[in-house]
Amino acid sequence: MKTLFTNIKELIQIRENGEEKISGADMKILPSIKNAFLLVEDEVIVDYGAMADLGILEADHVEDCTGKIVLPAWCDSHTHLVYAGNREQEFVDRINGLSYEEIANRGGGILNSAKKLQETSEEDLYQQSKERLEAVMQMGTGAIEIKSGYGLTTEAELKMLRVIKRLNEEFPLPIKATFLGAHAFPPEYKEDQEAYIDVIINEMLPKVASEGLADFVDAFCETGYFSVAQTEGIMEAAQKYGLPSKIHVNQFTVIDGIEACVKHNALSVDHLEVLEDKDIEVLKNSSTMPVALPTCSYFISIPYTPTRKLMDAGLPLALATDYNPGTTPSGNMNFVVATACIKMKMTPEEAINAATLNGAYAMDLAKDYGSITKGKKANILVTKEIPSYYYLPYAFGDHLLEKVMIHGTFI
Ligand SMILES: [Zn+2]
Repeated sequence: MKTLFTNIKELIQIRENGEEKISGADMKILPSIKNAFLLVEDEVIVDYGAMADLGILEADHVEDCTGKIVLPAWCDSHTHLVYAGNREQEFVDRINGLSYEEIANRGGGILNSAKKLQETSEEDLYQQSKERLEAVMQMGTGAIEIKSGYGLTTEAELKMLRVIKRLNEEFPLPIKATFLGAHAFPPEYKEDQEAYIDVIINEMLPKVASEGLADFVDAFCETGYFSVAQTEGIMEAAQKYGLPSKIHVNQFTVIDGIEACVKHNALSVDHLEVLEDKDIEVLKNSSTMPVALPTCSYFISIPYTPTRKLMDAGLPLALATDYNPGTTPSGNMNFVVATACIKMKMTPEEAINAATLNGAYAMDLAKDYGSITKGKKANILVTKEIPSYYYLPYAFGDHLLEKVMIHGTFI
């Protein structure tokens, strides 16, 4: 099966040098060809170039892209898409001035999601999550990471991870699973945190690993949640099972978690709304990808990650949604790209690099996803007729995609 895209107004994010991530000033560059063609065979990108160089090509399907932009599908490296129920009441409570503590006392927060999830059957959880996954694919997400962490018991964490595994089996896009048993301390362990760490390390992790249910491990490394020492213990335990870490860190306070993550070769450090110069120094010369989640900052009105500072220091940066019921009930990557431009002063080029190739890197998927590259999987977005790719973040509330292709098939 050959699909030929012709007369593409601009084909963007072309990478042929095997780059797995884009850093610093290079993020300002988004390689492209105007008036281009793109050829997909089965699941794979096989050729592209200027229309002038298009010889006679036989194709099963020709897609005329006059006036349209073509780009790689979004790579969303940080989500909590599998959850039960919603938390819209907390949203209204916050508008009405209730504090996080008051909401938690009313049964809100992560523990509220955990309670709901524990009571939801695996089948029901799958059905709820499936709808969200279908919706984000329609919005252009072509690779995604999903975390556990609303289970907080061995049984419920495994249930979440099995749902993620089933989504991965039944949907065409690649899904990476992250075990986040260390999302919050369950109430019964409030007075004995180390006992819960013990459950994570000696009960949950061995089962997760033996069933092959996770690609990565995560922890909420934050004041009042998991300490740096506890996070390190979890990273070290996971390393024994060959699971690299992706850690929630520096969302509210600076507690030297980034240094610990870099020391343990974390694949990514996520959130980073508060950063000190020493954190940036530690990230230099590391292979750890900083990940910003601007629509979380938007939704709960906390500071935005100082992405300019990170990029000006020569670092790479990825953008993701943090899709979850409490702090970011949206899996819309185009809105993430727009918010990055509007609120974090990222250029469209920087934001698109961060939401495609660098997002793929933060899931260990950059070899096959995140750019228009011969041999990579054909995960492709075709926009409606728009003036330029600047329009994607500019017209932030519009749905600008006409077609989404995943692994060579239009969805
Ligand atoms: Zn998160």
